[in-house]
Amino acid sequence: MTDCIFCKIIKGELPGDFVYKNDSVAVFKSIKPSAPIHLLVVPQINRHIGSINDLEEGDRAIVSELFLVAKKVAKDFNLDQTGYKLVFNVGRGGGQLIDHLHLHLLGGWKNVEASRKNMP
Ligand code: AMP
Ligand code: ZN
Repeated sequence: MTDCIFCKIIKGELPGDFVYKNDSVAVFKSIKPSAPIHLLVVPQINRHIGSINDLEEGDRAIVSELFLVAKKVAKDFNLDQTGYKLVFNVGRGGGQLIDHLHLHLLGGWKNVEASRKNMP
């Protein structure tokens, strides 16, 4: 999709603070973090997927890759021991503002109370 901010970040047409990339998934920092560590795990494949609502049967591989990359990057940021949240917002009623499928990876709070106060 030509006017999609995340497509542009992935293509290098807009700046992104990338922390990980492989053939099908990119991870970059949220510009407006809702947590001490707030990363966006984003598919970078030929097809633009708007949200969970747009997933098709053939998307099983990319969906599992999003979770496996989230797990890997969480470990890279030492969140595997402390814990973290994984969140998909779906549609405006679900808080989604960028219509390019992305998995929020959030963590780094000092305690459980702080972790329960913030949602992306
Ligand atoms: P959502 O509300 O689920 O669509 O989440 C959109 C996320 O993208 C939020 O965490 C925003 O802070 C983040 N965001 C928006 N624009 C940018 C950008 N240019 N670079 C990095 N993150 C962004
Ligand atoms: Zn896009």
